[in-house]
Amino acid sequence: MKVLRSAPELKKWRASVWESSSLGFVPTMGALHNGHLALVQQSLRENTHTICSIFVNPTQFNNPNDLQKYPRTIENDLKLLESVGCSAVFIPSIEDMYGSSVKSDMYELGELEQMLEGAFRPGHFQGVATIVDRLFKLVQPTRAYFGEKDFQQLLVIKKMTTQKQLPIEIIGCPIIREENGLAMSSRNTRLTPQQRNDAAVIYAFLQQIPLGGPKISRLQENAIEFIERLPDFKVEYLEICSVPDFSACTTLQENHNYVACIAVYCGEVRLIDNLQFTYKPTHAKV
Ligand code: AMP
Repeated sequence: MKVLRSAPELKKWRASVWESSSLGFVPTMGALHNGHLALVQQSLRENTHTICSIFVNPTQFNNPNDLQKYPRTIENDLKLLESVGCSAVFIPSIEDMYGSSVKSDMYELGELEQMLEGAFRPGHFQGVATIVDRLFKLVQPTRAYFGEKDFQQLLVIKKMTTQKQLPIEIIGCPIIREENGLAMSSRNTRLTPQQRNDAAVIYAFLQQIPLGGPKISRLQENAIEFIERLPDFKVEYLEICSVPDFSACTTLQENHNYVACIAVYCGEVRLIDNLQFTYKPTHAKV
């Protein structure tokens, strides 16, 4: 595996694989786990070469404490990427990505920026769009792989790619979970063993949603009751959006497709998760 530690090194490597038919790209912030590796493995299956990037992007953190405490495990990350057969890893410096001005560019993201993650993390998606756009320019992949764990982020990337008319296929990949159902996340390493155990409650709640309803305000009350009975847990939001248009709903309708999105604080660690489902009220408990 080639380890590329600067933009010039990346450019040289990119030129060396230019003739090969396809390049898959997996952008990450490191502290890699099986969720990241699943993206790399899918890319390896679908492309002749695969490159992963590791860059903790400052402009997407609206909370300086979260940025400072973000786990960094670069040596282990390199071992994991090597073990799955990744072709190259790009580890740029802040200067490579931002020069001397660490600021987001402006993207027209519409409603996506006003709702859920956009509403609770001001500026977050501008930072995400900026870094992914800049990485795309340097890496010039054929396909790029993103987890459905960050469902709204996937929509932001698709929107940015379409707006900029980039010739890159954006591929969403399923959520990889711990044995207890907790969605894998780099932030999980900041939980105590007890919290990590208790955090199974988030997915357990999401799975109940298609069986309840149809009133979403009721589901929101239930989420608070079910999740906040655990010490340290606080629900920031639960919203149910229609798929594919991603508009927030107030009632569920038969045979429609939805995604239930949730953000929960566990102590000072913020966890997000989601579940896609088709509503079948005949199975619902009233
Ligand atoms: P991050 O390092 O958190 O920026 O994540 C990098 C990529 O990995 C993003 O596309 C995430 O959506 C994806 N990802 C993170 N956790 C998971 C997971 N548990 N399952 C699937 N994809 C994930």
